[in-house]
Amino acid sequence: MNFIWKLFTGRNFFLVLIAFLVPVFFCDRSFPQSSTHSQILKRAIPVCSVCGKNIVNRYSIVRNEKFCSEKCLAERYSCANCGVTLGTSENPGFSTIRDIKEREIFFCSRCTKEAGCSFCASRKKTTSLRDGRLICSTCRELAIFTTEDARPILKAAQDMLEKEFGFPKNPDIPLKVLPKSEFLQEAKNALVTTEALALHQTNVTGQFFLSEDGRELQIDLKELDSGMLILEGAPAPMAFDSIVHELTHEFLCRKFYHFEDAKIEEGFCESMAAACSILNGHPSLAERRISNPDPIYGDGFRLIYSMLQEKGWDETMSFLRKNSISIEEYFREHPEEFLDQETMEYLKKHKLKPEIKFGSIQN
Ligand SMILES: [Zn+2]
Ligand SMILES: [Zn+2]
Ligand SMILES: [Zn+2]
Ligand SMILES: [Zn+2]
Repeated sequence: MNFIWKLFTGRNFFLVLIAFLVPVFFCDRSFPQSSTHSQILKRAIPVCSVCGKNIVNRYSIVRNEKFCSEKCLAERYSCANCGVTLGTSENPGFSTIRDIKEREIFFCSRCTKEAGCSFCASRKKTTSLRDGRLICSTCRELAIFTTEDARPILKAAQDMLEKEFGFPKNPDIPLKVLPKSEFLQEAKNALVTTEALALHQTNVTGQFFLSEDGRELQIDLKELDSGMLILEGAPAPMAFDSIVHELTHEFLCRKFYHFEDAKIEEGFCESMAAACSILNGHPSLAERRISNPDPIYGDGFRLIYSMLQEKGWDETMSFLRKNSISIEEYFREHPEEFLDQETMEYLKKHKLKPEIKFGSIQN
């Protein structure tokens, strides 16, 4: 199970290796050698990065690569939105993003000034979703609009969490794709302020019975599943990432119940989402978390991901256990969140401290 946490470093190693393998072409034909031959002077004959031909005339250099013609340059560097060739004297500067298909794409400075896709910031052929958010043509190709679109993504996320991390799998999670207004209402009801694309709440409700002498409080808890709610328009790889995050909350809730420090809980959910997105072929969704400045999500991710990398799964689980509160403990500390006001006042008035007995949790 530990291999996965090393993927970031694995990737860096790959890049370093490539750098050493870049061929260097030298040729001494075009430079007159000194008659003394005390030094062998060599001069590179430039080679076009696209067509591979030796370049005898003028050429352009972009990002240390040489191009024999505008045609070859355009093949590598053209604006993904308007198509102009980049790196020329008319369009010297350009910006770069990685799109949802993990391709590096470029935009001229004019297109860069336009508003970007709300998912990936791409400027490529953006259109509006019906709630007004902008979406680029690449994200739109992969976007989820119906519950049927989302079903295989939820299943893939559950399968991966079960196979790679041993999460228990609930095949009957209700699933719904919602328009933005309804999704935000649900997030508000759940007291979550979220930028997330998925939402899943496991709520615990209970019935309690106070014995007549007031010495015993019997509590029967019941789990309510809100179902997995997904925001309409999300590109599938991002929805997958968000679903993993939400399923991890459910895992934590069942295993540990409550974390006083939100950074630890969100950090673990972010780490699982990052790991699964890497396995799902979308490392950029993991990498963007490395520099997330958020004190809960960003700091939490850096704390927990490096713990998983350095100490492994079991030690991370013990850390989570140490920093969490079981539902029984939580109830004892916050009875007012479970009992109605009348009962609370009755207990107070009669100075009752009943012994609490938990029934089994039903779901
Ligand atoms: Zn060429
Ligand atoms: Zn452009
Ligand atoms: Zn996009
Ligand atoms: Zn969360």
